[in-house]
Amino acid sequence: MISDVRIDEIVEKVMIELRQGERVRHGPDPSPAILHATTKPSAPTIRHGNNLFEDVDQAVAAARKAFLQLADLPLEIREQMVSQIRRVIRENAQILAHTAWVETGMGRYEDKIRKNLLNANKTPGTEIFSPTAWTGDAGLTLVEFAPFGVIGAITPSTNPTSTLIGNSIGMVAAGNAVVFNPHPGARECSNLTLQLINEAIVEAGGPENLVCAVEYPTIESAQELMHHRDVRVLTVTGGIGVVRAAMKSGKRAISAGPGNPPAVVDETADLDQAGRDIVLGASFDNNIICIDEKEAIAVDSIADELKRVMVRNGAYEIDGQQLKQLMKSIFVEVPPAGKYGMMNKEFIGKNANVLLSEIGIDVGDEVRLILVDVDHDHPLVLSEQMMPILPLVRVRNADEGIDLAKKVEHGFRHTAVMHSKNLDNLSRMAREMDTSIFVKNGPSYAGVGYGGEGFCSFTIASPTGEGLTNPISFSRLRRCVLKDYFRIV
Ligand code: NAD
Repeated sequence: MISDVRIDEIVEKVMIELRQGERVRHGPDPSPAILHATTKPSAPTIRHGNNLFEDVDQAVAAARKAFLQLADLPLEIREQMVSQIRRVIRENAQILAHTAWVETGMGRYEDKIRKNLLNANKTPGTEIFSPTAWTGDAGLTLVEFAPFGVIGAITPSTNPTSTLIGNSIGMVAAGNAVVFNPHPGARECSNLTLQLINEAIVEAGGPENLVCAVEYPTIESAQELMHHRDVRVLTVTGGIGVVRAAMKSGKRAISAGPGNPPAVVDETADLDQAGRDIVLGASFDNNIICIDEKEAIAVDSIADELKRVMVRNGAYEIDGQQLKQLMKSIFVEVPPAGKYGMMNKEFIGKNANVLLSEIGIDVGDEVRLILVDVDHDHPLVLSEQMMPILPLVRVRNADEGIDLAKKVEHGFRHTAVMHSKNLDNLSRMAREMDTSIFVKNGPSYAGVGYGGEGFCSFTIASPTGEGLTNPISFSRLRRCVLKDYFRIV
């Protein structure tokens, strides 16, 4: 495994090389558009068969065949498949990040490299399984983790390659086959990821098409996959629409839905750390990740200092008037106070300077986040913006902050963050929020194992309760009982 610090070093090196190359051609401060036009990493060669199918029936049939083949292979092959997937993705993390960045037009190239490496490194493999045994006068009972068969998985545009990497490792480690229906807007980068994963599996001695996909995915093919008789379980990662559709399908659905993570900062927090970490977390891949901080809620007595720290760490503050103007661009229709709204796709995942240029502010790429003081019922607080613009709400004390955080998280129970040294406040927020992820005194992404302890998953199933999914989420529990024998003591 490579460490998170090493991931940062790799990304830093890539960015320095890119910027040096660009400086020669274009002067000192290249925009991402220039980087993208001239620095595409080289494409990998695909040597093994084609795991992308014309329709759902063909893909499911191929996956089913691969599942049966895997069942006849030694368990060791599963471990080898997982380690080959990790290797191939590490080697191709840049090209996958680049393809996703260009195709979707969302996020930051360097952060997408981080997300790929993080999922390749820290998604648990077969080592997570430890069977349970009971022994006694009545003999030995063993509980083991078995695969389901073919899983149907639907993946988002916001973390397209990284979700496929994490899902594939987890599902294959558990002995399943999987048919993916990626987001149509991330088809190219998803297909490339899946072809590389297929290569890795075949090179490890595993069956072709154990991980496969519909080559031209649509919402209709996603629906078809959800209802296919040979698909045993669904795993969906996306907004509320796909979660509802999966849960209505009649199949078991591991459902990872939207979030609106609040970050509460009280007067006991280390403000230097809190301000820096909120900027890092809220701007990670331009705020398109479901765990990214979507609103800050600060106790009034420290709010000004917190904002100063955030500005020192790459945030750019705008005032209420400027926000009013910007709202016309970033919302499809500007909602009234107290309501959330639909964000304008044109600006989802764009860099902060692209948003700022809408209101005539000309700054560089180094601005990671826009910061703005707002009222507690502002639409930007209530909406999952997925843009690097963070509303900050002032409250009188931590209790008021926690109450507001609970309200604006809308009961998604996804992710919440608190910066505090007060144990009572930390405990109360942990209990009240009841979220799959609660991060104390760190950026939200520490909650998916980036700079924080624990494994990574980009499929965080809050509605159905699995939390951060892993190979155990994709397994059936089976019990085997031997009556009266095999207790050895
Ligand atoms: P999206 O909901 O638009 O699309 C997700 C996937 O679902 C796509 O493959 C899409 O084609 C499919 N889909 C959408 N509606 C469908 C329907 N009615 N029937 C069948 N398939 C359907 O989401 P997106 O914009 O790609 O991703 C962003 C959203 O996903 C955000 O809300 C974010 O919070 C959420 N998300 C959650 C997690 C998590 O782990 N909980 C992870 C990533 C993204």
